[in-house]
Amino acid sequence: MSLVVMKFGGTSVEDPAAIGRTAAIVAGRVAQGKTPVVVVSAMAKVTDQLLRAADAAARGDRTGALAISARLRCRHRDTATALVKDRAEAAALVTLIDQKFDSLDEILRGLAAILELTPRISDLIVSYGERISSRIVAAAFRERAIDAVHVDARDVVITDSQFQKAIPLDDVIEKRCAEKLRPHLANGKVPVMGGFIGSNEAGITTTLGRGGSDFTAALVGGALSADAIEIWTDVDGIMTSDPRVCPDALRVKVISFEEAAELAYFGAKVLHPATILPAVKKNIPVLVLNSRNPANEGTRITSLAPHCKSPFKSIAVKKKLSIIDVVASRMLMTHGYMKAIFDIFDKHQCPVDMVSTSEVSVSLTVDSNDKLPAIAADLSKLADVKYEGRKALVCLVGDDIRGQSGMAAQVFGAVRHINVRMISQGASEINMSFMIEEDDADEAVRSLHAAFFKDPDPTIFDVEARKPIPASS
Ligand code: ASP
Ligand code: MG
Repeated sequence: MSLVVMKFGGTSVEDPAAIGRTAAIVAGRVAQGKTPVVVVSAMAKVTDQLLRAADAAARGDRTGALAISARLRCRHRDTATALVKDRAEAAALVTLIDQKFDSLDEILRGLAAILELTPRISDLIVSYGERISSRIVAAAFRERAIDAVHVDARDVVITDSQFQKAIPLDDVIEKRCAEKLRPHLANGKVPVMGGFIGSNEAGITTTLGRGGSDFTAALVGGALSADAIEIWTDVDGIMTSDPRVCPDALRVKVISFEEAAELAYFGAKVLHPATILPAVKKNIPVLVLNSRNPANEGTRITSLAPHCKSPFKSIAVKKKLSIIDVVASRMLMTHGYMKAIFDIFDKHQCPVDMVSTSEVSVSLTVDSNDKLPAIAADLSKLADVKYEGRKALVCLVGDDIRGQSGMAAQVFGAVRHINVRMISQGASEINMSFMIEEDDADEAVRSLHAAFFKDPDPTIFDVEARKPIPASS
């Protein structure tokens, strides 16, 4: 039995046509003799809208909150009736959708009276997105002769009680997968469950954090020791750079977990970085595939980096960053100085991306955010502080940077016309990054791409299809 966990993101279930394509893809796997477990996101944009409804209710805007919910109810009902033609099935599904929205409305009304949105209530409210989408998808599959069975993800993905970013309890999940999924698989059924949501051991709904459906797929895949995890999205896989910036970007056919995680962190939106871990631990390959172009072989993410003639696999950019320079000649040579600086970032719960130091100065980069003035004010008690926004971090990722001499010279040679503010070569030895003005970022990427992907290795990059792909949402 070849067990494959197939995760479909919001755009792959956004409307009846998308759900129809998804059903055809799953039916295709069944026809190949594979055993799928399907994990779905909420329909595109639904999570955002549910959060907006929650916010409105918590501000006392009861009408606004209920209006958002009413629009979502219509969208889900319409999708269900477009997909399910069997009258009795359709009626049952619509009743179920109505019941869910009735209870959501109840919660929103309560919230509008209490006027306090806790992380726990927020998780309960957003959970409706995946709880309903997974029901619709399961019914649509059955209508299309896939023997699908809906499984409530909250019975499987058991977590701690950190609402909005709950930590999965691996051992419990493994047990639940054996109890709640294995028997269905043994009966030849295709389980369909929502991603992103779970529950704590007391049965209270939790979520794994935004974009968490990939994580669900990896957790379930890990717990079931799946043969592969497929992440179905709306791009052809991981690219050598953003095709909107660089039209000759190429699909990367195979990349290591470590490289993919680096890219995910640097804003390549294809994959949630945490997806990587449960799969890596069990050595399960992850495939990133395009539900609009299922014939494409996508990107295969494996535990070992394939050797490649070009030093880099991909170039990522993270924009909207700020750089903070801390200059403290009077603290020169004192110990505990770095700790004092980092304590301030910690106090403001502000993650730091990159650090570079000299005897008298430290430069740090952070996401531009409204905490910066307060952080700078605190830092200025220690030292002279300057901060500047509109910076971008360009990051080149590739396992073959390891041990190559002269790489920095080649990289900075390619962007010699651009002013570089800060440089770092990660301890992981698979990334080189540098900070520039945001306005120079696109040009830098194009120059680097031209320099390093002139003669791409056809075993690693899809050199046949040098055409731009549709933008990810
Ligand atoms: N629906 C959730 C979100 O939008 C989880 C996911 O799609 O991965 O964050
Ligand atoms: Mg996603």
